[in-house]
Parts: sequence; C-alpha cells; structure tokens
Amino acid sequence: MSGLYARESRSVSTMAHLRFFPQAVTGGHGSYLTGEDGRRLLDLSASWGAASLGHSHPALRDAVNRALSNQAGASYLSSANEPCVRLAEKLLTLVPERARGRVWFGHSGSDANETVARMVVSATGRPRILAFKGAYHGGTVGSMAVSGHPAQQGARAAGLTLVPYPDSYASGGPEAAKREALEALERALASEAPPQEIAAFFIEPVQSDGGMLVPPDGYFQAVEAICRKHGILIVADEVKVGLGRTGRFNAFEHCRIEPDIVVFGKGLGGGLPISAVVGPETVMNHAVAFSLQTVHGNPVCSAAALAVLETIEGDRLAENANATGRVLFEALGRLAATQPLIGEVRGRGLALGIELVTDRGTRRPASRQAALTVYRAYQLGLVLYYVGVHSNVLELTPPLTLTEAQALEGAAILGQALDDVQNGRVDENLLAGFAGW
Ligand code: PLP
Repeated sequence: MSGLYARESRSVSTMAHLRFFPQAVTGGHGSYLTGEDGRRLLDLSASWGAASLGHSHPALRDAVNRALSNQAGASYLSSANEPCVRLAEKLLTLVPERARGRVWFGHSGSDANETVARMVVSATGRPRILAFKGAYHGGTVGSMAVSGHPAQQGARAAGLTLVPYPDSYASGGPEAAKREALEALERALASEAPPQEIAAFFIEPVQSDGGMLVPPDGYFQAVEAICRKHGILIVADEVKVGLGRTGRFNAFEHCRIEPDIVVFGKGLGGGLPISAVVGPETVMNHAVAFSLQTVHGNPVCSAAALAVLETIEGDRLAENANATGRVLFEALGRLAATQPLIGEVRGRGLALGIELVTDRGTRRPASRQAALTVYRAYQLGLVLYYVGVHSNVLELTPPLTLTEAQALEGAAILGQALDDVQNGRVDENLLAGFAGW
C-alpha cells in the first residue's frame, strides 16, 4: 500500500469510498493516470465516466484558466453570468424539441435527479414516480429515493414504483426480455401505480450501474407510447452514458424516443462538478427558489462544460466512441471466445460491460471473480471497476478520446487479468478491505 493511500486512511472518511484496490494517483494525461508509485495506469473508467475528455485536456485547462482569470462571480443564484447562459443556450440545441425549454444547473447527477424528482411532482400535482429496479440515480436522499439499486443504503420514496429493466442476457434473448419487462410495467400500472397519478418515469437508455444493460429494440418506444397515453413525463438520465459516449450525442437516440426532460452530469464538466436538467418551460419554471445550492451555475464549471461540448463536437468524439468502441467490443469478444468467465460482452460505443459468470449454462454471477479481476488488472496497469446488481459486470467507460491502440492495450491487460483469476493466480486475501459494491 502506498504512502498516500495509508495517509488517506488516517485522515479521510470512508463514507464516500467505493474502493476496489489501493489506488492512489498523483496526476494524469489523456487516457493514463500516474500512480503514486510512478506506474502508468490505463484508465478505462475515467472516474466513472466523469473525465470524458481524459485527464488534463488542453481545451478544458484553457477554458478554466480563462474563466478563473476574470471570474464572473461564483454562482447563478442571484446574478446571470455569461458562461452559464452560453452553456444553457448550447444545451437547448442538443435535446429534442419537447425538452427545449429551460435549463437548471447543479453540481452532480445526484442533485440534478433529486431536483427533477421534486420538480415533476410539484409541477404536475401527481404524487407518483416510476423508475427501474437496479437504477442508480444518485447518492443524496432525494435521488436515492427514486433509485432502485440494491447497494444503496437509503429509503425509497413513498410514491415510487420500481419495475424491471429488460435484461436480454438473463431472459435468454431480447424479445423475451422486452415482453417480460412490458408485462411487468402493465401489471404495475394496473395495480399499485395508477397511471393518472404518475408524474414521471425515470429511465436510463443503457442501465449502467445496474449492469450495463442495453434495452431491446422497440422496448423504450413501447414505454414512450404508454407514457404519452397517460401524460407521464419521460426523464432520460444521461448522466453516465450521454454526451457522445454511446456513439450518438444522446444515448436515448438509439432508442428512437424523445424524452421530456434530459439530465446531464458526470462527463459534462469533464471532471469538474456540474450537472444540468433540460426540460419544458412549464415544468422548469413552475417555481422560483425551489432547488438551489450556493455555487450552482458556477462560471468556471460552466466554462469547462462549454469546452467539453465544443470538444466533443469539434473533435467528433461521438464518432470516435463509436469506432473505438467497436474495436474494444470486438477485442473483448475475442477474449470471450477463450475465457470461460465471460458470459456476455455488451454495451454501446464506449459504454461497455462484461458480465462474468461461473457457468455459462446457469449464468451464475461470478462476483468474487469480478472483484479479483479488477484488482489484478490494477496490478497489471489497468483501471476499471465493476457494477451490476450482483456485482459481476466489469464496466468500461473510458475517456471519449481513447485511441484504438489504447483499446487493444486495455483488452490485452484485461485478458491477462482474467486468465490469472481463472487459474487461481490471484490471492483472495487481497480483497480484504476492498468491498466494492
Ligand atoms: N445517474 C446515473 C445514471 C449515474 O450513473 C450516476 C452515478 O453513478 C448518477 C446519476 C449520480 O451521479 P453523481 O454520482 O455524479 O451524483
């Protein structure tokens, strides 16, 4: 264990920790982090997708420097500021017509989803919310209240109904998954969740923390039709998989739906804290002083977000996510051909998941092996974590700037790590103190 890691354990609380191995870093450039021990670590997590442009991207650095050298205050609570307004204007051009009203700014996916959860109930007068089992919409009281991830230690909202997300691997195919999930939704609407009482349905176009589940074709179009029929607002949580990561700017575009409200976070600031909710004016302007924290709309973070959006567009990073994602997906597919622990490789663009199983026939989750694999990968110079309701899905959300060579390098290291785990070459005692989630 490095000196920094040990010092941290004597000074920093563990309450926000989600640790998989004793990682301590001192810097980073592009897709690589620098370990305290001087090792170069290929970062295929990008801090859970937040470092969307990789580390120390010059466009982000320049934008932040400019904004800080003549700082237009620190907040939009009591004053308009140029970067914040420009960012709102830009975001309004990036969402479907029905969401093109006003933008609210926060710090994180959590405060954004919490605001939406309160806002839709307050604006519509309907008390209920639909969301998915396995969904992670945030770690604050109000965002946990509309989430469905089993790892969370918080209460759910009284008006929340959780329905199953279609899982094509578990159901044995996309058609069965779609049918089962839609039937469960219809059952919920016919019983505990009367549709006329539901304000909104929180959806993830790819359910990331629930296991990087890709919805079957047509599933969300069917959901959209149900929501339109009953006047239920569709909230697309694009926090982890949006902003070009899936190969299109918005992940919901793959589903061919048009949400009413779009939530951005993580990669929006490229590593700086900023989130945004974009939605119709009737909802977004239904109250004042309704959801605010002092440095919301911070001009420095807003300038960073503008630089992120300009770089995604200017450097065609959605196209890169698509092309590099395909190279990575195919390399992982080749690993799956020789590595029995891999049950399925899935995802879109540079949002990929690898489900590990102890037996491909029964699809039994290989949770311990997932923990050992990410630990071993770290020892070999690769950073990635795992997700899933059974903690057995390796998650890849690398910088959108990832190159094909880096994708192949990552797949090769991961192949070695899986091999070492499969052949019992990784000491299980290493996991003591690294519970993950
Ligand atoms: N929504 C999704 C889909 C997420 O994956 C996350 C975080 O993992 C959040 C919301 C919450 O974002 P944050 O942790 O930045 O508050």
